[in-house]
Amino acid sequence: MPNYPRLTDRMVLFMISFVATMDFELSPTHRAIRDTAREFARAEIAPHAQAWSRAERFPVELIPKLGDLGFLGIQIDPEYGGAGLDTLAYAIIVEEMSRVDGSVGITVASHNGLGSSHLANFASETLRARYLPKLATGEWLGAWALTEPGSGSDAAGLLTRAERRNERWVLNGTKMFITQGSVAGVCVVLALSEPGFGHRGITAFAVEGGTPGFAPTKLEGKLGCRASDTAELALTDVELLDEQRVGVEGEGFINAMQILDKGRISIAAMALGLGEGAFEAAVRYAKERKQFGHPIGDFQGLQWMLADARTELDAARLLIYRACALADAGKPYAQEASIAKLYASEVAHRVCDNAVQIHGGYGYIDDFPVERHLRDVRVCRIGEGTSEVQRRIIARTILG
Ligand SMILES: Cc1cc2nc3c(=O)[nH]c(=O)nc-3n(C[C@H](O)[C@H](O)[C@H](O)COP(=O)(O)OP(=O)(O)OC[C@H]3O[C@@H](n4cnc5c(N)ncnc54)[C@H](O)[C@@H]3O)c2cc1C
Repeated sequence: MPNYPRLTDRMVLFMISFVATMDFELSPTHRAIRDTAREFARAEIAPHAQAWSRAERFPVELIPKLGDLGFLGIQIDPEYGGAGLDTLAYAIIVEEMSRVDGSVGITVASHNGLGSSHLANFASETLRARYLPKLATGEWLGAWALTEPGSGSDAAGLLTRAERRNERWVLNGTKMFITQGSVAGVCVVLALSEPGFGHRGITAFAVEGGTPGFAPTKLEGKLGCRASDTAELALTDVELLDEQRVGVEGEGFINAMQILDKGRISIAAMALGLGEGAFEAAVRYAKERKQFGHPIGDFQGLQWMLADARTELDAARLLIYRACALADAGKPYAQEASIAKLYASEVAHRVCDNAVQIHGGYGYIDDFPVERHLRDVRVCRIGEGTSEVQRRIIARTILG
């Protein structure tokens, strides 16, 4: 037998201390954030979610309430009126909103994680001081426009042009599927400032709602998240001063990819919330509904669905919390964010689908939230990089 090193007392002590740092409980602060968010979502969102979804109405009246609680400036520095919380708090809040309503979940996720985050991380002090206090309180919502009609997964293939004319930038192009696009006070727009330089020719700009030439059109008829605002943006000779540039010229795309790393954690959290909401409803229904003289939860076919759901949702949560822990420790987390997003969104879709199955015919009508959850969760496999794109990212890291 080879001479393996013996476990000395010191090594055992070291291992015990390592295990002791693997804490699977939320801290009292994070528990308090979760409880507040859950209570708020149940009282202020859940009773209205069906009506908002049916009417495809963006609930503007909810925004000041979200702002008052700090849910619209979760990671914005307190200096600018934000809550200055960590990534885990952000994920928890998105999860709790999504548990009852994917539309509010995607609104909170994209406002915090895309538009506001891009400005907070890369904008000049002038722009940060101008926009962050408004975004943190919910006076304004933030949007973020990367996708175009012809470029989604191949985001660097965008065609929106930013040309320098005298002292100004002039933007022309079209953006597609932009969350908060028609209700945002400010939108970070990615545009080609230096054609021929590939992704290094892309620059970001802050475009305020109401700027001449900036015309959003709300998109109707979405499969899910119908109460969220999704818009197509037309930019026609939109003139901007150079001070509206966000970050260094030519670094817009590189910054955007960093923004998406964090954004992917929030889409994973949104999926988890929808999965948890559907699971909770399915458990309740399985105990109440009787067939063949028994609660349907007595049947093994349904028990296995619930057991699988619980197992997969727990695994998704651990992957999300791992990505949060790495982000909050200032360590690289792009791969872990992609893994969390891929897994959570696929698992949550399965859980929501089985929750509809457990509800039988009643799961197919919108009187029960599982119908809406199944529609809402679908976007988690598409937005901020499809499942196929996440697999590409993960495979690229594996293979080098
Ligand atoms: C509700 C909603 C909200 C959104 N919000 C925003 C927002 O706020 N800001 C924003 O910029 N964008 C937003 N998006 C856009 C979203 O990020 C894109 O839809 C997504 O990145 C996919 O792009 P696409 O729709 O052009 O699909 P495509 O890129 O055309 O993909 C079509 C299919 O081809 C597959 N595919 C493409 N390339 C490959 C490849 N190399 N290998 C394998 N498969 C591939 C895809 O996975 C997909 O299945 C939103 C989308 C939706 C639906």
